[in-house]
Amino acid sequence: MPMLRNIKVWNTDEIIDVKVPLAADALVEGVRSGTDGFDDVEIDATGLTLAPGFADPHVHFRDPGQTYKESMVSGCAASASGGYTDVLIMPNTVPAMDGEPVTDPEAPGAREVLGVGRTDVIDFLQHYATDHDVTLPVRYDLCVCASKGRAGREATELERWRRHMPGVDDQAKDADQLAHPVTAISDDGSAVTPETIDDVFALAKASGLTLIEHCEHHDTGAVNDGPVSRALGVPGIPEDTELKIVERDIAKARETGVHVHFQHVSTAISFDAIRAAKAEGLPITCETAPHYLSLSDEALLKYGTLAKMNPPLRSEADRKATCEAVADGTVDLLATDHAPHTMAEKELGFLDAPNGIIGLECAYGVCHATLVDGGYISDERLIELMSVAPMRLMGHEATDVTALLDRETDASREPDAKRVLDLGAVKDTDGIGLVVLDTAAAWTVDPEAFHSKARNTPFGGWDVTGRPLATIIGGAMVFSRL
Ligand SMILES: [Zn+2]
Repeated sequence: MPMLRNIKVWNTDEIIDVKVPLAADALVEGVRSGTDGFDDVEIDATGLTLAPGFADPHVHFRDPGQTYKESMVSGCAASASGGYTDVLIMPNTVPAMDGEPVTDPEAPGAREVLGVGRTDVIDFLQHYATDHDVTLPVRYDLCVCASKGRAGREATELERWRRHMPGVDDQAKDADQLAHPVTAISDDGSAVTPETIDDVFALAKASGLTLIEHCEHHDTGAVNDGPVSRALGVPGIPEDTELKIVERDIAKARETGVHVHFQHVSTAISFDAIRAAKAEGLPITCETAPHYLSLSDEALLKYGTLAKMNPPLRSEADRKATCEAVADGTVDLLATDHAPHTMAEKELGFLDAPNGIIGLECAYGVCHATLVDGGYISDERLIELMSVAPMRLMGHEATDVTALLDRETDASREPDAKRVLDLGAVKDTDGIGLVVLDTAAAWTVDPEAFHSKARNTPFGGWDVTGRPLATIIGGAMVFSRL
């Protein structure tokens, strides 16, 4: 099995060797793709870093219902290629992931669910690999809708999906159900509506799950309101549209004690409100995404609709405020909001093109170039923001590499002898998720090389630094470009 010599443990100065079996269906790229020799190879990993695997609590895999954009297979492959070991799938599937039985076989996406004998989207996604006889290279959790059909008229019913939560009726669950629990609530794509807000907070309280909130209340506009929107002649989205939901939900968190996590925060005024709420000790966390750190609305002039997303890219001052909010700890974690669309859809113009970009396969490079090379945070902190912190949001613990070494390496070895971690000999590998990083690699983003089905990214051709080289899950390497 491959042996990685002289790799550095991410948050220490320790240099170790790691022996890691290749997973049966591993995706192997680069010089070793298609070769038989990978199994016994020794790799000089000097200068590389072993870290806990990345986790993304904000991805859209479009399965069921829109698999022409992305499927579970392509979305999971994109995750592994980006160094991710764990993702949280958002509920705006078709039909929506609201726990309701799918009854109308003619409804969009219904045949995909009913065709494999499943009755609702949660069950469908939990049993995806088994039902479709495929290997999905990453672990995933599910996020249930806040409202039925994500329509914002009626909150979802806890009794419909409570059994899918971790720790609830675990004895009655099969292995697939145990592996892919419902760990959060969200109507991502839109904010919880005024009609449902009391019921949704009650739902979050009763379930104990985090409410993940997409903070926008507007229903008009396509890009950030400002000089760029005026130059383009496209209706603008005012900056305070985000703040209004942030403030409303902070008040509700104060009143109910429910943990609210704000997605992709994009404005300085929202960060100020979140900073104050955190100082008050309220159960508030937030994320931002690579594009809000690296692009302002000026990017619309260069990349067109490949820079159209919700919330919209904001002003340069907001972009800098977002980087500063990462530096001062206001931002708890980084998420991609990986949102696949076809290029034909993206060519519909500013008014009609769907919102969002894909992000999994270049997130680390873009964030590293912006935040670490930009002097905002350290290499270690970036890894923490992409692994330890998002895992915590999903209710999991990231792999503690040092604790794993302490447990699995020979305590009676010579003092100062290099430790060797043999993942092939580890008995309980369930919780293990690791990534091999080249924190200094300079590379150019090539969307044609992505494993995602989609190509909608403004980062094509960008020169970035920092690249995931291998992804290890459950003690085996599922992806390698070593
Ligand atoms: Zn989203």
